[in-house]
Amino acid sequence: MSSPDITDREREAVADVMKTAYLSMGQYNEAFEEAFRAFTGSRHAIAVNSGTAGLHMCVRAAGIQDGDLVITTPFSFVASANVLLFERAVPVFVDVDPQTGNIDPPLVRAAILDIVSGVQGAHAWLPRRGADPARPLKAVLPVDVFGQPADFASILPLAREHNLKVIEDSCEALGATYQGRPAGTWGDYGVFAFYPNKQITTAEGGLIVTDDDEAADYMRALRNQGRAPGDTWLQHTHLGYNYRLDELSAALGAVQMSRMEELLPKRQQVADWYNERIAEIPGVEAPVIVPNTTRTSWFVYVVRFQPGIDRDAVIKALEKHGIPARPYFSPIHLQPYMVERFGFQPGDFPVTEDLGRRSLALPFSGIMTEAQVETVCQVLRKVL
Ligand SMILES: *Cc1c(COP(=O)(O)O)cnc(C)c1O
Repeated sequence: MSSPDITDREREAVADVMKTAYLSMGQYNEAFEEAFRAFTGSRHAIAVNSGTAGLHMCVRAAGIQDGDLVITTPFSFVASANVLLFERAVPVFVDVDPQTGNIDPPLVRAAILDIVSGVQGAHAWLPRRGADPARPLKAVLPVDVFGQPADFASILPLAREHNLKVIEDSCEALGATYQGRPAGTWGDYGVFAFYPNKQITTAEGGLIVTDDDEAADYMRALRNQGRAPGDTWLQHTHLGYNYRLDELSAALGAVQMSRMEELLPKRQQVADWYNERIAEIPGVEAPVIVPNTTRTSWFVYVVRFQPGIDRDAVIKALEKHGIPARPYFSPIHLQPYMVERFGFQPGDFPVTEDLGRRSLALPFSGIMTEAQVETVCQVLRKVL
């Protein structure tokens, strides 16, 4: 489905770390974080060992606690909602925009206004069970889906007005811009991820950017077993985690960051090759990029089938021709543990479910050739 873009520079950087005594908490983490401060213009960059770890610490930094309500999207990778459950908070899912798959601003607005109006208004938005409508709404957690930022110009003013923290899940959008400003910098905190299928990789890893000094100190402490500034190795001011990124991963990531202006255009090129060909295949829609997305950072290439085409049958047929393809996303609210805990049912979020049924991720990476894209599209046309 995907493949990292690794050169000898990355291989040498990782080998160099192996020649030192510092395999954790050293200069490569610092260099990696510095690269992100420079790239995003954020005051703080905090490297961690996964995107999920980064999102989890943002939830802690936002002061989200047992029973608190957080508005988020069911059309995402599960981690963006799971981090709320880690703290026993309640995801208040709202449906998404059918074009972009990003959280739908008018619904966010309606949900915020109803929930802050009191228990009566909150009821309609909360899960059937496992939620207390008297609990406060604390935050909004939008996801920049498939490399296209959420509609922050619509979401932010209302969040600010109601004192809600905004946690931006940019794990799929490193390098994208929204109205000219980098993805990840729109929320109070933004999180990137570096699993091998992402725009850059550290093998496993993630990173938080924020301009909030206090939150940054707190998250650096949480990352490092709760050691606050001034704590010794066995002093732990907070309940923390080991969410540190190792030096080998950081060295790999620093080289990948330095290649950003090579990696993103390569992904754009592959997406362009797909766009041209998908436009010619009846029944298949190419991804829609909206004007607010001033730069798309292609994470995956997800097409949509027109109603009537059996997506799962297409996946099977593609597989027979040696072409991997995946549903993308499977709605979060219908995952078994979510249904068990909150009582969600099919039909609760119709746009998300419809996209979930009709969407298909095709093989995608920056190292695909035009001939490979051509093969995928020819086979797709044939099986359809
Ligand atoms: C990749 C991803 C994450 C985090 O992934 P990790 O595997 O924990 O690094 C979080 N949210 C979204 C939307 C993602 O795509």
